[in-house]
Amino acid sequence: MLGEVGARDRLVMVGLVVLGLLTVVAGVVSGRSTITYVLNKDVRDAALSWTAKLEASLAGPSRLGRGTSDKSSLAPRMLDKDVQVLDGAALRERFAGSEDKPATLPPDRGFDDESFNLLGGLDRMVMGWATRRMQGPKDDFVSKLEGFAVLSPDKTPLALGGALSPAAVQSMLGRPDLAAAFDGALAKDTIAIANAPAGGKADRVAFVPVSEDGKVMRVYAFTMDQTAAAAMTNIALTVVTLTTSLLIVMGFSVPAAIASRRIRERWLAEDQIRFLALHDSLTGLPNRLQLRQHLERGVARSKRHGQLLAVLCLDLDRFKDVNDTLGHATGDALLSEVAARLRDNVREVDLVGRLGGDEFTIVGEDITSPDDAMRLARRVCTALAETYHVNGHEVTISASIGIALGPVEGEAVDVLMKNADLALYRAKQDGRNTFRFFEPAMDAALQKRRRLENDLRTAMRKNQLYLDYQPQFDLATGRLSGYEALVRWWHPTEGEIPPATFLPIAEETGLIAPLGEWILRTACAYATTWPSDTTLAVNLSPAQFKTQDVVGLVRKVLAETGLDATRLELEITEGLLLQNTDAVMETLKRLDELGVAIAMDDFGTGYSSLSYLTRFPVRKIKIDRSFIETLGISPETSAIVSSIVGLGQSLKVTITAEGVETEGQAAMLRKWGCDQVQGYYYGKPEMEVPGIGGRKLDRPLVA
Ligand code: C2E
Ligand code: MG
Ligand code: MG
Repeated sequence: MLGEVGARDRLVMVGLVVLGLLTVVAGVVSGRSTITYVLNKDVRDAALSWTAKLEASLAGPSRLGRGTSDKSSLAPRMLDKDVQVLDGAALRERFAGSEDKPATLPPDRGFDDESFNLLGGLDRMVMGWATRRMQGPKDDFVSKLEGFAVLSPDKTPLALGGALSPAAVQSMLGRPDLAAAFDGALAKDTIAIANAPAGGKADRVAFVPVSEDGKVMRVYAFTMDQTAAAAMTNIALTVVTLTTSLLIVMGFSVPAAIASRRIRERWLAEDQIRFLALHDSLTGLPNRLQLRQHLERGVARSKRHGQLLAVLCLDLDRFKDVNDTLGHATGDALLSEVAARLRDNVREVDLVGRLGGDEFTIVGEDITSPDDAMRLARRVCTALAETYHVNGHEVTISASIGIALGPVEGEAVDVLMKNADLALYRAKQDGRNTFRFFEPAMDAALQKRRRLENDLRTAMRKNQLYLDYQPQFDLATGRLSGYEALVRWWHPTEGEIPPATFLPIAEETGLIAPLGEWILRTACAYATTWPSDTTLAVNLSPAQFKTQDVVGLVRKVLAETGLDATRLELEITEGLLLQNTDAVMETLKRLDELGVAIAMDDFGTGYSSLSYLTRFPVRKIKIDRSFIETLGISPETSAIVSSIVGLGQSLKVTITAEGVETEGQAAMLRKWGCDQVQGYYYGKPEMEVPGIGGRKLDRPLVA
């Protein structure tokens, strides 16, 4: 990410340097053009000025009229050059009538250089005036006069001065470019400047036509030396260019550096945003969005190459316990460590992402057979199972993995993710710390579960649920002691659905709270119609303790129905006591204080920790029917059941045996001194409690 910014920054810097260099080059080029322009303009202005002076000097009627050839008197002083009149007569003739016909010089319209029209135009608009203002005295020119000639339109020299000799004039006009310049000046009646050196030090020649009545009468030729001026101007140019460049670079680079910094900061921020949009902030792994995009491309690739692709959905087993017992900081550190191990254990072509919480996904490409995916899953399971050292704690955790192989038809990405998730669900159900491949049957099971979930909502709305009541008896006296309420669902098309099927759905969807409340209220209301020495047992799901204020609910229902608290028994399972001991302990204690009895249901199937029985206010233990089932068949169960009964007696806790189906089972329980019995042998769960006023036992307690 930062590498990208660096590269872009370098690009910007290079761009700035190139721009700076271009600016300097442009400055030099335009400086050069300006110098050429200024020098040419100087030539022109000088030529015009000198022509005017020579005109005034040569055309003076008194002097010409006198036919004198006095060189000194003819020489205009400011030119500081000797004038040699070659042909006085012709000269006079050329000046004839000068008194009444004023001679005109080419108009002073700024420098007319066709190769540099833009600058000329600008000069005409603005600079001509400015340069003239700044030039000071008119005859202070940088161009030095080398020589001059007054020529008749047919190129005959009439007068000469300075370095120009008749031979030099001849050789000058013999050159085609200079001859062309002369002709141009003559034809257009405009000043013409040529660069070609005309011998000596001169490097410029200017031809200035002088006309009378629109007809060119004579042409002045000036040879000039600009070498000193050019050298000086070059130095000036260099200094000016360097200074300007320095100013430009400074004026340009400071804002450019600031701008570049701002751009860099913005790019960094944008990169950060882009990174966050595609990555999980805790582990830095690709998030759901990026994973999806990657999977879409992966599916397309594997279809193209006819290869397999594996999606592994991974979920840490009992990660919540880590969070609950060691705190969220340790949980987060563990997740980061898990992410690192996952990254280390996949190939470069594979992608590991975090979907959130303790859920990760691996997309494996280049898979040739399901075995490859299995090996990957095994490797990951093994790597994750090793002990972690996080925040000073030693933690072990396992993972369950669901694997789906693709490509598949339809919305491949969604289907693959869903299938892998179903397989994960199965891996969890099959005892965790393992992996399962997706099978179509899982999908069917899920569909059914979804349907049931919807139907359960409807069932609760439409009163399709009801309660059965199963009697419980005192084994010693045969007296009916009470009933256990058991919820039932009669599905309109599927018939009876067992609570073991729909209760987990209610627990997962949160429907257990309203359902549990309805059960408690219905059963309590019914129990008020029973004899006052009959108890009512109601089962509570662990999920109710998480989502509901159980004490408040019980208190409210008892008040509403008027059932005496001492007649109510709440059955809980051992799993509840593992949840959040302090909160559960508090709830159970307050229920006990209300006078409600707590019964430990399905005892023996969970952790069967005896410490619970002393720490929690448990008044009854219900031995699970799986033990009663094998009584008399397995000597071990007989030993277990007899010792649980003995334990109850010493702890002064009532012992109830569930699922008593046979006479033999009942006899053994009676022998050991079990307090209560419940089971098909004595009475099945029924919708109604028969014979209010005391249900009669329809069979002897012991044969
Ligand atoms: P549980 O609380 O242990 O309920 C006893 C279960 O054993 C009931 O099954 C009952 O019909 C069955 N049973 C009773 N005597 C015999 C017998 O002699 N032989 C056999 N084979 N079975 C016998 P059910 O009604 O299917 O309930 C299963 C479990 O569902 C219950 O076990 C309880 O954990 C839960 N459950 C039932 N009703 C409710 C309820 O209203 N609320 C909550 N939270 N859970 C309930
Ligand atoms: Mg029960
Ligand atoms: Mg039970």
